[in-house]
Amino acid sequence: MLKVFFYALTFCGIHVYIYDCFSRIFHCSCTLISHTSKHKLRNKKMENKFDSEKVIQEFECLTKDAKRVQTETLKTILKENCEAEYLKKWHLDGRFDPQTYSCCVPVVTHKDLDPYIQKIADGASYPVLTGKPITTITLSSGTTQGKPKFVPYNDELTETTMQIYRTSFAFRNRAFPIGNGKALSFIFGSKQFTTKGGLLAGTATTNVYRSAQFKKTMKAMNTPCCSPDEVIFSPDFHQSLYCHLLCGLIFHEEIQIISSTFAHSIVHSFRTFELVWEELCSDIRTGVLSARITVQSIRTAMAKVLTPNPELADKIYNKCLGLTEWNGLIQELFPNCKYIYAIMTGSMEPYLKKLRVYAGRVRLLSADYGASEGWIGANINPDLPPEMTSYTVLPNIGYFEFLPLTNVDEMDSVDPKPVGLTDVQLGEEYEVVVTNFAGLYRYRLGDVVKVIGFHNATPKLQFVCRRNLMLTINIDKNTEKDLQLSVEAAAKLLAAEKLEVVDFTSHVDLTNDPGHYVVFWEVSGDASDEILKKCCNCLDTSFVDAGYVSSRKVNAIAPLELRVLRRGTFQKILDHYVELGSALNQFKTPRYVGPSNPKVLQILCNNVVKCYISSSFG
Ligand code: AMP
Repeated sequence: MLKVFFYALTFCGIHVYIYDCFSRIFHCSCTLISHTSKHKLRNKKMENKFDSEKVIQEFECLTKDAKRVQTETLKTILKENCEAEYLKKWHLDGRFDPQTYSCCVPVVTHKDLDPYIQKIADGASYPVLTGKPITTITLSSGTTQGKPKFVPYNDELTETTMQIYRTSFAFRNRAFPIGNGKALSFIFGSKQFTTKGGLLAGTATTNVYRSAQFKKTMKAMNTPCCSPDEVIFSPDFHQSLYCHLLCGLIFHEEIQIISSTFAHSIVHSFRTFELVWEELCSDIRTGVLSARITVQSIRTAMAKVLTPNPELADKIYNKCLGLTEWNGLIQELFPNCKYIYAIMTGSMEPYLKKLRVYAGRVRLLSADYGASEGWIGANINPDLPPEMTSYTVLPNIGYFEFLPLTNVDEMDSVDPKPVGLTDVQLGEEYEVVVTNFAGLYRYRLGDVVKVIGFHNATPKLQFVCRRNLMLTINIDKNTEKDLQLSVEAAAKLLAAEKLEVVDFTSHVDLTNDPGHYVVFWEVSGDASDEILKKCCNCLDTSFVDAGYVSSRKVNAIAPLELRVLRRGTFQKILDHYVELGSALNQFKTPRYVGPSNPKVLQILCNNVVKCYISSSFG
């Protein structure tokens, strides 16, 4: 009997698996080495010295051969995990090809896998979803669903995270090279807790920040975080944020990049700066940390970086005084900052306006596309403005399928049929279906993306919206994007009073028949009733979906209601999510709050200061 040996072959960074009985011949030199150790070895090399051109070369090889790389990636995942309870149930019987996989294994949602994830969290002693035991659980931010979801996490996800970071950095560095310096990174460790079965649970970003690879990779990229670990992993994110700002000012000349996971936290951080800048200056002047910092570990760590520096305090103070409405704050305070880097697409787009005010001439670059469930694509065109960013899928970091959105019946059918990574069509919209290295198989991510081009054989995806975020009462269907456009249109009216929408969300009120849309706004100051009334009408008429417009005309949907919130309401919502285990840098304001999210709905309803009912449509 032929004994089959299993090797992983490194070929331009591609995982190619061979069975030794029929070793294939490749046209370039190769090294035999296992899959995981290959990843680790490459990460190790890159941790020490970053070679952008080499990373780009590897990326080119991978993307040219996307179809085969996908097949091999799937084979690796299934082979590594075929003894797991979940995969055994689908009788793959040693067949690891895409056809067998899609015939035998169903497309699922988190709800379907939740019982298995729960077993892992409860400490199951046998392989449930993966061959190797899962030791960490990730809490997805859960901002859209109302409560965090458990997702399995393992070292492979850290490795793929580093691969994504390196890939987009290589392209960024080609376009906007940076020298030695530091990053002002608004990153925060979430609360961590232990599950019933003894597994550590926290946000995905916390798992990454705690990993040794993260620090080394950031150092190799010349972007180590300017704040000490005690600040990042503090139990109180308000105190962390204050100290991040303070460290940023202390190292202001060395700061080359200002970053976070999502753009929201950068805007939130500089809004906080507006409130505490004088206190920050005073700390720098005296070398004594504000009494608001009560966590001893932070005080001890900050004592090492904070020394009295009246000259610097004066410089910052005068720069702040010289600014009009905080325009160009970042450009002024961080003269060597090359760019601001965070996810800026999707639900982050509404923060770009404010971010541009703070940034001045400093460029905004959108970060990559991923989720707690794994990374998907990298931004390899950093020269494009954030609104035009697309994400090029890395074919070896997971196995990706795409559910066509054009066929809604298909999406809602019990057995939907997604297409493969290299079979997607230009211009079409799809929901992303992920198979990852940490026990998710054909998992619907809930994100809608549009194929806007290809890089070699792999698609470039534009993020469209979350699929389940839908304002709907009868035949109307308005997505997160439609809401955003409507809010953008109405917010223009506020600009006349030099005011802005700080944040917003929505709700469908069905307490009376017919039901109506409710839009909640937090506004930066006191707007007149007259303007807010106009804003309310504008919101109503800016939903251009035919189902909505026709329903409004015949009053099958009642007039839209604008509820203005007390200042600080969205801060309360953020605090609520952080309490549940989210982290500031991973926070996304829920753009729709339904009955499944009663606590947030209660925070909103308890903080309404004014209501307006639309008089559009007669
Ligand atoms: P989390 O639940 O915190 O893991 O957040 C993951 C979700 O954030 C994804 O499923 C997307 O909906 C959203 N997201 C992640 N990256 C991007 C991006 N580059 N553009 C837009 N939305 C994104």
